[in-house]
Amino acid sequence: MSQKRKRKKREQARRSRARQRHGNTPDRLSERGLLATWADRARQAASGYLRRDDLADNVLALADEIRALALRGMERSPLSGRHECRPGCDPCCHTAVTVAAPEAFAIVRHLQTHIPADALREVRDKMDRNAALASSMTREAYIAELIPCALRTEDGNCRVHAVRPIACAGFLSTSRAKCLDEFNRVPGRDPVPTDRYAMMVGLGVSHGLSDACKQAGLDGTFYELHHALRRVMDTRDPIDTWSRNEGLFDDCLQ
Ligand code: SF4
Repeated sequence: MSQKRKRKKREQARRSRARQRHGNTPDRLSERGLLATWADRARQAASGYLRRDDLADNVLALADEIRALALRGMERSPLSGRHECRPGCDPCCHTAVTVAAPEAFAIVRHLQTHIPADALREVRDKMDRNAALASSMTREAYIAELIPCALRTEDGNCRVHAVRPIACAGFLSTSRAKCLDEFNRVPGRDPVPTDRYAMMVGLGVSHGLSDACKQAGLDGTFYELHHALRRVMDTRDPIDTWSRNEGLFDDCLQ
């Protein structure tokens, strides 16, 4: 047997062992079904808001509803009792994250209403640093650099946990030890056993939100977190600008 085939067989056996250990994760077919189901639900929920004349007044309520929908879906995961994600455990907060406009508005509103001015200035400086770094390298290189998210506190918590991006909420692990191995680049480590069910719900809801925005003629693109947040913070009446389709996120990294 060639080396390539041996490697492939070893990889298949390892994946099969991981599946047995972490059990009950959806197979590829049901992953696609999950994604489509939750995308549909999010599209329906979002389009109700996006059709309204008073969208600008309701976009934060839209963000809340969509986030609640995603969290409800994630709670249904067969692995929901086995997550080892805890406050202060932050290896996954050293990666690249993207958000859609309603998420960015909700996060900035949370920062502006929950964080003292001096801490907010510090967060803004970190966002600027991360935005510049993200612009200067590929997404893969950015992830490989393990750059801490600007919204992470010194003790490893998320400053915006209540309104965190759906992408972050859907990244759940059943092994803290393996997350740490990944973070520390331990040679020969196993992959992080993520909850694929929760991830598919999150992906589905995010895509449903994005589609609904696009169907309503609005910008539903996913933008790099720090770029998007800084643009919202720097713009006078950002929600009006977005709802009037005036290029709020022009030049932001996607
Ligand atoms: S937004 Fe919060 S949860 Fe997401 S990567 Fe940043 S600190 Fe972590």
